[in-house]
Amino acid sequence: MDRVGQVTKTAVRLPTGFAGLEPPDAWPRPKSSPRPERLEASLETLDGVGPSIARRLARLGLERVGDLLWQRPRRYEEPVPAKRISELFGDEDAVVEVVVRSASSRRRGRLNILTARVADETGEIKATWFNQPWLEARLTPGTRVRLRGRANKFGFAVSSYDLEGDAETADFAPVYPASEDVSQKKLRELRAQVLGLVRDAGDPLPAELRAREGAPLRADALAALHRPRSLEEAETGRLRLAFDELLVLRLALARTTAARERSSAEPFGPPGDLIAAYRSALPFVLTGDQERALEEIDADLARTTPMHRLLQGDVGSGKTVVALYALLRAVEGGRQAALMAPTETLAEQHFLTIDELLGDLGIRVSLLTSSLKARDHAVVRQLIASGDALLVVGTHALIQEEVEFRDLAVVVVDEQHRFGVGQRSALAEGRSPHVLHMTATPIPRTLALTVYGDLDVSDLTVLPANRKPVITRRIPEERASEAYTRLTRLLREGRQAYVVCPLIEQSETSRARAAEAEAERLREHELREFRVGCLHGRLRTADRRELMSRFKSGELDVLVATTVIEVGVDVPNATVMIVQEADRFGLAQLHQLRGRVGRGAEQSYCLLVSRPTEELTETAVERLDAMVATTDGFELAERDLEIRGEGQLLGARQSGFSDLRFVRLRRDQKLLERARDAALVVPDEGLLADEVDRLLGEAEHLGAS
Ligand code: ADP
Ligand code: MG
Repeated sequence: MDRVGQVTKTAVRLPTGFAGLEPPDAWPRPKSSPRPERLEASLETLDGVGPSIARRLARLGLERVGDLLWQRPRRYEEPVPAKRISELFGDEDAVVEVVVRSASSRRRGRLNILTARVADETGEIKATWFNQPWLEARLTPGTRVRLRGRANKFGFAVSSYDLEGDAETADFAPVYPASEDVSQKKLRELRAQVLGLVRDAGDPLPAELRAREGAPLRADALAALHRPRSLEEAETGRLRLAFDELLVLRLALARTTAARERSSAEPFGPPGDLIAAYRSALPFVLTGDQERALEEIDADLARTTPMHRLLQGDVGSGKTVVALYALLRAVEGGRQAALMAPTETLAEQHFLTIDELLGDLGIRVSLLTSSLKARDHAVVRQLIASGDALLVVGTHALIQEEVEFRDLAVVVVDEQHRFGVGQRSALAEGRSPHVLHMTATPIPRTLALTVYGDLDVSDLTVLPANRKPVITRRIPEERASEAYTRLTRLLREGRQAYVVCPLIEQSETSRARAAEAEAERLREHELREFRVGCLHGRLRTADRRELMSRFKSGELDVLVATTVIEVGVDVPNATVMIVQEADRFGLAQLHQLRGRVGRGAEQSYCLLVSRPTEELTETAVERLDAMVATTDGFELAERDLEIRGEGQLLGARQSGFSDLRFVRLRRDQKLLERARDAALVVPDEGLLADEVDRLLGEAEHLGAS
């Protein structure tokens, strides 16, 4: 068999048609060749995974066997000293080898606390585990265990443990994004089963390039990532995988850039009367940054290559005014303009904001989302096709095949990091509108170029007016009443407030229901003396508009809301926000939510209510702490990059750079340059073509979900 393998290789290298060496239709497959289909198998094919565990794993973004290999550990356990019980002090991780004397568990709210008396020859201590009730049955008296953790005033808080010889507490053991219902231990066990399959991942890097880069084989990199002997080894593995990702990304960008460069756009003349009217209708003077952005946009529009610009500005920096300007430039020339938002509710919110801003200018705005009734949808599509609808707001539904613009000249894409590379190209191909991307999660310019390709960038760095930074506090659930006390005091002073409901519910409809129930509860209890409205994604546009105008005019004191208030809501007198179960939200989302307060001259507050620290995942604590530490969106974006990898729990869409798992953008600048150079020499994408397809295709798939 091995000989056949060798012959195969040789034959492939020979010029085709070489006499006497016509290859057969199919060579027998050599034993050693990768079998990628094994990585496609469902996780249920592994030992110890039934339907229930499979479901829990799916919530962590793990569905196929290969997913286990392609998930990066968040970090590695550093070696810690082995101690005897008598030698334990607080504030220091240690490993103890002990025997179980007894074990019992109890509940405190949602928390299960398992306590075991354990002993060695120097003494006895109480070891505690949180939320691992099944372990109790295994901690029978006399069992030998190796515990890693930290002594505290209650005993010994266990962070990981070995039962019967699994090397869980081993030095450099990987720590994966776990959840309440899938333990770290389980994840490590499964990983151990799958590590034997690393060869099936294949290796798409041309051998010559790999040699020049001095990179390990992909299989070895995966093995090093999940079972390193040192941190350096783990890092070498990560770098190889990151290199592949960056290379694939560069190749994908090269594809989309090539497509764009083949297209051309119709150049615009100078701004006219409508723009003049728009400017003079604005109730404020534009900031220097805004003016510069408008100039840059004007210059782009005057060219025959399509605009491809990123408008970056923190929450509240005034991007809407700039975006509208770009849209109106098309409208005033009698051409079409579209604003795309990542979700239906965000699209509706934008629609309301814009409709209000443009009302006086006599411009009609159309809304196209897939929640429209089939007939209405058809009507709007018709208006778009005939060119009667000049300004359209919608979701990605706007780029689907059935929507034909008669003359689309300008497109603004909001929160563009939520759209994959593929969606952006889908929009640009065939039609060639000028495109302005907007993001409230600013990233350094060099990173923007990496991730978004050859975008031009306009930054809005100075916030309009002199706003005070919002004061943010974390409040544990048990003390939630304190948050409401503060809220009540501010309401009595005439301020208004938001209460954001938890994100637990999956569908928009059940979230809406939960929000209604919470509003009702608050009306009866904490907020009895106030007028409370409820805003969610299942309200009809007209009802939402009415609710918002009542809140704006002060007829309502409090809005209980789902995350639909993330954008567009702009009421300067609202100075306090309570976010319930704040640990469930992504960082970018919390930042957006917080942006709804701090819009006037008064000091504003954002109160993040969550379970106590010891019940939260590590990353949740990191997110909340980051929110308290800074109001700067740029800094938060960087923190998000560091923390990310955990995003799957609440939808990768929120976590920004979901395409890149192994890259650490700031640290990997050098690698990035190497990948960029390498992309120029890989002929026709080589074996990476499939992965490029997948990157572009997956992005589209994501958008369609
Ligand atoms: P973003 O979309 O960037 O989060 P918005 O466009 O919603 O920010 O603007 C935030 C608020 O600031 C809005 O109330 C807007 O009317 C106001 N605003 C925008 N530009 C200016 C400006 N130059 N001066 C004063 N207020 C402004
Ligand atoms: Mg905005």
